[in-house]
Amino acid sequence: MLGLMMNTPLLISNIAEHGAKFHGNREIVSVTADNPLHRYTYRECIGRAKQLANALHGMGAEQGDRIATLAWNDHRHLEAYYGISGAGFVCHTINPRLFPEQLVFIINHAEDRWIFTDVMFVPLLEAIADKIPNVEGFVVMTDKAHMPETKLNNIVCYEELIASESQEYDWPVLDERTASALCYTSGTTGDPKGVMYDHRSTILHAYAAVAPDVMNLSSHDVVLPVVPLFHVNAWGIPYSTFMTGAKIVFPGPKMGDGETLCNLLDAEDVTLALGVPTVWLALLQYCEAAGKRLDKLQRTVIGGAAVPRSMIEAFRDKHGVDVRQGWGMTETSPLGVANSLKAGIADMTPDERLDLATKAGRGLFGCELRIVDDKGNELPWDGEAYGPLQVRGPWICSDYYKLEGASGAHTDDGWFDTGDVATIDPEGYMAITDRTKDVIKSGGEWISSIELENTIMGHPAVAEAAVIGVAHLKWTERPLLIVVKAEGQDVTADELLAFFEGKVAKWWIPTDVEFVTELPHTATGKIKKIELRKQFADYQLTG
Ligand code: AMP
Repeated sequence: MLGLMMNTPLLISNIAEHGAKFHGNREIVSVTADNPLHRYTYRECIGRAKQLANALHGMGAEQGDRIATLAWNDHRHLEAYYGISGAGFVCHTINPRLFPEQLVFIINHAEDRWIFTDVMFVPLLEAIADKIPNVEGFVVMTDKAHMPETKLNNIVCYEELIASESQEYDWPVLDERTASALCYTSGTTGDPKGVMYDHRSTILHAYAAVAPDVMNLSSHDVVLPVVPLFHVNAWGIPYSTFMTGAKIVFPGPKMGDGETLCNLLDAEDVTLALGVPTVWLALLQYCEAAGKRLDKLQRTVIGGAAVPRSMIEAFRDKHGVDVRQGWGMTETSPLGVANSLKAGIADMTPDERLDLATKAGRGLFGCELRIVDDKGNELPWDGEAYGPLQVRGPWICSDYYKLEGASGAHTDDGWFDTGDVATIDPEGYMAITDRTKDVIKSGGEWISSIELENTIMGHPAVAEAAVIGVAHLKWTERPLLIVVKAEGQDVTADELLAFFEGKVAKWWIPTDVEFVTELPHTATGKIKKIELRKQFADYQLTG
């Protein structure tokens, strides 16, 4: 017997309408290339998103067509999110930090019809324009006064495009499984793979994100997403804010600028900021050097890479900010787990709390977790056993877009193999020990590169660190620590190695240390270990 409840589809346009109706006057503040501090309201945003939807129909866009964006976090990009997806088209967000060959690959693979771009990415597009023949034209997200000189064909000014359109628009009533957005993984090997989100997955993910033990979002919050709109929907922030009425502050092209971030946090009364660890390193360093304290910020959600203990400590002790770690992937929309303190385990020393906070977190309702052994048997949740992490749920990808041949990422019983290796403790807190490809196997036992990196990041002379496995005659592999020294600091290899003593098992301590001036990063700001392994392929260990 079926229940007797309404079968109204879960659509992104519902979030747009909800935000505009219930929180119409809530502010959206953006740093943009043409305006250092643009301000308007949710209502104005959705009015303009509707103008854009009308314009897209006028441009001949059909349901399911991929319309791409190549842009930083600002109000126009947000309008594109609602205007494109809400009208039934697919918003394909492109990461501008990808290599030109990768850009060409994904634009052609997605068969994008139009690209909405920031002014500063026009040269990037000019360089590849002859290799992306399917693209019919480019919409530059600026006003007439700031339109660039360009060789690109069929170029349109965003403000002119929408100016003549009506703010009246009836959102189509779509099947909730209709594709809404497309994001490619920033894979370090092989071609990027497309993850196709739908309206239903997006809404369920946003519901999960706002929960108290996840982001704890409400209309009282002011949110600064330093996570880019061009990668995994900025962790769903465009949707979770409009669901709750939180004010949004977009940093525009100033994402990595500690000073701008610090000023925005203060001037706009930001309560929640989100970003990857690299971004917060820049902010913390700026605050330290400038003698500033983040007085207004209450909490930060950090994910995308392991969060060093020293970072959690710095936020807590120097700024009174609560760090919530999160784990996720492009394939998981991205939120899979979040780390907040559970009832019944609060009786901990500050040190034990820190240990817990360095874990990725507890599964959100809607994302099931399991860890398995080599044969696929489930491993115990004892905080010790580690193995490949698999997840399942309504906002986890069931396949990749137009992928030829099987990806091998899904198990026969319907779980997605994340490519991460993890432990899960008896309370359900999951900790990532490594990417499967980054695991170091020494004498048949695994060493967690992430734990070693987190430990050494606590040394004041270390700005950034990576640990990779290097071939060893006796032990097969041994860890090599690669370090970027903090500005104005000096330290020896022996001093760094001594720092590990008592903090990790003795046999985990790296065999050698190499100092470098910088580490290679992926387009999403993660350390590119594949590059490091190539660089140090012939490294001769001394021990
Ligand atoms: P992406 O698809 O580019 O967002 O990258 C997802 C990958 O980032 C995951 O598979 C993890 O390897 C890594 N990652 C994300 N969050 C964390 C975290 N909290 N701790 C360790 N690694 C993480």
